[in-house]
Amino acid sequence: MKPKEIAELVYAVGGPGLSHPTDCCVYLVDAGKELVLIDAGAGPGAEAILRNVEALGFDPTGIGHLVATHCHIDHIGGISRIKEATDCMLMGHQLDRDGIELGDRRLTAADLYGIEYWPTKIDMILEGAEEKRVLGNLEFHFVATPGHTPGSIAVYLDLEEGRVLFGQDVHGPFSEDWGSDIDEWRRSMEKLLRLDADLLCEGHAGIFRGEDVRDYIESQLRRYRQL
Ligand SMILES: [Zn+2]
Ligand SMILES: [Zn+2]
Repeated sequence: MKPKEIAELVYAVGGPGLSHPTDCCVYLVDAGKELVLIDAGAGPGAEAILRNVEALGFDPTGIGHLVATHCHIDHIGGISRIKEATDCMLMGHQLDRDGIELGDRRLTAADLYGIEYWPTKIDMILEGAEEKRVLGNLEFHFVATPGHTPGSIAVYLDLEEGRVLFGQDVHGPFSEDWGSDIDEWRRSMEKLLRLDADLLCEGHAGIFRGEDVRDYIESQLRRYRQL
């Protein structure tokens, strides 16, 4: 598979088949004055992610911000390498700080993957229920979506063709080891449904458009109804 444009200004640059089998889906936003990367993959695919950015015609050193949507290794393992190559600012939520900054192997689920993680300091800590930041020429909205992990965040952007939502862990799963909370997750999913996004970029399940966005989130809520 090759890196590709998903919507105007939004690209898929990492994931199984694109960078490394252990990687979550990694997305790139062309914010004009800078590039913004959503998640970093597990680590072994970091070089491939940077090559994919280049293959799309961008200079990887233009990555100004990297958003860690939560502290699991398949999303954060590539941070240290990408930061080293690009000098980008790392963004993440206060409540997933122990995983990202201390590298607790239980919180990051690194043992599950058998991958080494290099703890990295978060440069821009998010803590509110919803925060707005202008990165490059675009306004990014960061929404706290606790449940999968306490510090999970979703990101959305209003672009010309509609609202694009990066919901990296809509599908769960849940574990006491990471501090999952299924009731919080349900409330977070209701929050995402209210955003009424036109495009959902998910962390493992890929891309959903139009009506499929709502259908997918609702199907996950049904799937975990018994828990
Ligand atoms: Zn996760
Ligand atoms: Zn994941």
